[in-house]
Amino acid sequence: MSAYILEKLCLGCQRCVRACPQDAIQMVAHMANVNPEQCIECEECVEVCMQGAITFREDERRDIGYG
Ligand code: SF4
Ligand code: SF4
Repeated sequence: MSAYILEKLCLGCQRCVRACPQDAIQMVAHMANVNPEQCIECEECVEVCMQGAITFREDERRDIGYG
C-alpha cells in the first residue's frame, strides 16, 4: 500500500513533496497527491507532514470520510 494524502487535512505546504526521495508526490489543485506507482513506502513524507495528513492505514481513510 502506498502513502495516501487525507485531503481534508492537507494545507498544501509541499513539505512532503520536497521530502519524497521518489518524486512520488505532486501538487494537484493545491493539495498533495501520491502516485502509488512511484511510492516505496519509506514514510519520509509522514515524518515531515505537520498536519498528520499522510497515512498508510485504510481504516484512517474511512474514518475521515474516504472510500
Ligand atoms: S506535508 Fe502534509 S500538509 Fe504539507 S502538502 Fe504534504 S500532505 Fe499536505
Ligand atoms: S512514503 Fe516515501 S516514497 Fe512514498 S510518497 Fe512518502 S516519501 Fe514518497
